[in-house]
Amino acid sequence: MNEKERMVEYYNKFPKWGYAPDGANLERITVTQSFIPAEVNSILDLGCGDGAITNQFAEKGFNVFSADFSSAAIQFAKGKRVISNVNDVPFANQQFDAVVCAETIEHLPEGVYEKALSEIERITKQYIIISTPNQEYLPDSNIRCGKCGNLFHRNLHTRSLDRNTHKTLFQNFELIKTIGVRAWYQSPFVVNFQQKNLKTYTPGRNIICPSCGHINSDKPGVLKYLIFGLKHAILRFIPGAKRSRWIVSFYKRKN
Ligand SMILES: [Zn+2]
Repeated sequence: MNEKERMVEYYNKFPKWGYAPDGANLERITVTQSFIPAEVNSILDLGCGDGAITNQFAEKGFNVFSADFSSAAIQFAKGKRVISNVNDVPFANQQFDAVVCAETIEHLPEGVYEKALSEIERITKQYIIISTPNQEYLPDSNIRCGKCGNLFHRNLHTRSLDRNTHKTLFQNFELIKTIGVRAWYQSPFVVNFQQKNLKTYTPGRNIICPSCGHINSDKPGVLKYLIFGLKHAILRFIPGAKRSRWIVSFYKRKN
């Protein structure tokens, strides 16, 4: 099984598809949708997952295509469903008025990432909307697999992006606007201290280990609750720890 097949299997087994988004995610989705200009008719949601964003567009009457490589995820998506990779998409040049790629590119490995960005540029006529986590300190979301000991990012993020990264994603498109959504607090110093000295990792439920497939469900004890409560209290006093949790950017093709 190659890396891509392994990822498809991983996302097909992912236990969190098809649930309604929580309040924070709903806010991010609303901002993402607000960027779609009135004249847009056709939209592709690339890496649509279970259609958390797409489905809102479909309900509003847009001509929506939903593309994802996981058949388990895409079954919940409305619109025209297409099983597709993000780096090799079966669409014509400038087929869509707008391409949305939300909470996807931060997962992509080297090579796939660059190709996905150029595919997005190729298939959109006029607009691109990208959303990613903002300034994420990746080790903060590391989990130690309870079965094989593998240390991995709980959402399998491979890269951290910020407003500057968003400026450099596309060559033929101008970044018109970036909006920050919600806030989170992160500090490399606190995370490193916590993981090295207290040997604790962020708790998570139903997190599949990408190495052995074990489903990690952490039931934090009192001590862990205390550590994480204290951590979040301390983070509020560390200058620079607060940043927007997500950034959503809107791009228009250069004339
Ligand atoms: Zn494992």
